[in-house]
Amino acid sequence: MASIFSRIIAGEIPCYKIAEDENYFAFLDINPVQKGHTLVIPKDEKDYIFDYDPEYYAGLWKFAMKIAKAQKKAIPCKKIGVAVIGLEVPHAHIHLVPMNREGDLDFDSAKKLTLPAEEMQQIADKIVKEL
Ligand code: AMP
Repeated sequence: MASIFSRIIAGEIPCYKIAEDENYFAFLDINPVQKGHTLVIPKDEKDYIFDYDPEYYAGLWKFAMKIAKAQKKAIPCKKIGVAVIGLEVPHAHIHLVPMNREGDLDFDSAKKLTLPAEEMQQIADKIVKEL
C-alpha cells in the first residue's frame, strides 16, 4: 500500500506544498516542531533513506538545500536544522526545521504544534516566494 506521503504526492491527501520536481517533493509538516518545519521526500517510496542509490540520494540533499535556503530567508531564525528520523512514516524524509537554539530541534510529540490552516498557508506562501 502506498505510504501517506506517496498519497500526498499523488494529490490524494492535501498538503501545504513548497516545491516539487521530477524526483522530489517538499511540504510543511502537519505538526511542526517549529513554524516553517518542512519535509523533503523522494518520490520513489522507500522506507530507509540509506537504501537509495547514491546519485538519487545525493539529489535529495541537493533539493533539500534549495528548500532550506528559502526557509532561512522566509522565517526569522539562526539556522535550518536537519533531522532524519522516519520512525512514524515509512517513507524516507528529511526534516528541515528553522531554529534559534539547540532545544528547538525537539521531536517530542507532546511539544509539536498544531497551527490554524490559514497560518500554515501563509508560512508555505512565504517560503515558496523565496525559492
Ligand atoms: P518521522 O517518521 O518520525 O520522521 O515523523 C513523520 C513526520 O511526518 C511527523 O513530524 C509528522 O508530523 C509528519 N506527518 C505525518 N503525516 C503528515 C501529513 N499528512 N502531512 C504532513 N506531515 C505529516
